[in-house]
Amino acid sequence: MARIVQKYGGSSVADAECIKRVAQRIVATRKAGHEVVVVVSAMGDSTDELIDLAEQVSPLPPARELDMLLTAGERISMALLAMAISDLGVEARSFTGSQAGVITDAVHGKARIIDVTPGRIRHALDEGAVAIVAGFQGVSQDTKDITTLGRGGSDTTAVALAAALEAAVCEIYTDVDGVFSADPRIVPTARKLDRTTYEEMLELAASGAKVLHLRCVEYARRYALPIHVRSSFSGREGTWVVADRSTEDEGDTMENAIISGVAHDTSEAKVTVVGVPDRPGEAAAIFEAVAAAEINIDMIVQNVSAASTGRTDISFTLPKAEGQKAMAALARGKDAIGFEALQYDDGIGKVSLVGAGMRTHPGVSATFFRALADAGVNVELISTSEIRVSVVCRADDVAAAVAAVHSAFGLDAAAPEAVVYGGTGR
Ligand code: ASP
Ligand code: MG
Repeated sequence: MARIVQKYGGSSVADAECIKRVAQRIVATRKAGHEVVVVVSAMGDSTDELIDLAEQVSPLPPARELDMLLTAGERISMALLAMAISDLGVEARSFTGSQAGVITDAVHGKARIIDVTPGRIRHALDEGAVAIVAGFQGVSQDTKDITTLGRGGSDTTAVALAAALEAAVCEIYTDVDGVFSADPRIVPTARKLDRTTYEEMLELAASGAKVLHLRCVEYARRYALPIHVRSSFSGREGTWVVADRSTEDEGDTMENAIISGVAHDTSEAKVTVVGVPDRPGEAAAIFEAVAAAEINIDMIVQNVSAASTGRTDISFTLPKAEGQKAMAALARGKDAIGFEALQYDDGIGKVSLVGAGMRTHPGVSATFFRALADAGVNVELISTSEIRVSVVCRADDVAAAVAAVHSAFGLDAAAPEAVVYGGTGR
């Protein structure tokens, strides 16, 4: 008997039929003798619909009220799922994030979990019930207000609860069979990864792979909690995200997999600060202005200054949604910082190659840039980590770039493996 946390995404609980199907899977796990804690997302696209509704009422809804509204989505699915499970003769109790002991800081819309005190969940399990928890939400320790963890945050709820409850595994149920070597919607011959590491998964998630929330992977790594990403629409084994990719019998062959995947992201924009004087403190002033506006940035690139002008350009990328805020913050600081102009470009995309093997294998960058060149893709920015190479290119070139790089590294499966079972991709 094991303690298992299962998380079901929006497409897995999109309507009454889906909810009943998921209930059956949960009941089967419970009847096999396991203790089951379930974390649910809001039904289908209902979070997006609630956001649309809020925007119709107010163009800039107060963050506290937006959080209060959005948490309703997960509460609907948790209660319905508990009803469906009860109907199958197994006791189920639903809990809001706050009731489940998910304690966060006070930053509405992207709160961080600071503690999990799941006393009521333990109690429910001790009494033989299945505990259902509303994902993506918690309660602020300071303000006692309801918070949300950011889009896709139910994954993080599930992993945080699994860690606090010392569960054997956190199963993330989604609408594809696992983590793929590229988005199967762009590369039909993408292959399913049987195992990947926390390290690689962190890079993939940070590079735009949407299958897992970035913070959930950070959390799982910190607690060495295995994640099993799999489909709620099939019984197939999915992708295990663990500390070490090699298994005992497969050690050598797995080591040969230099690259684990190609991720892409078209949700970012590029800001270029033109004509920055080449003297100490300029970059600090620029990024302090952006940080003061509470904006997270991604890539940063600065070139050497031109000898004739003593000035250079600094470009950085950030979520499109924060673009105007960053431009306004920088424009306010223009005279104090002393740059010449600002440029904003939201027609960009990012393509990233990820794999722990690139640490020890030469020629990975050469193959990567050759593949982009042969596909006619112009590279605008480059950034790397130990196990990742990323480029920024035109958004229109992203699909071609991903496909070209995926083939160049021999990642294509002989026949299409991926089945996308649900979801509107919204
Ligand atoms: N329902 C929330 C969202 O759509 C949280 C989640 O699904 O993880 O972002
Ligand atoms: Mg998700």
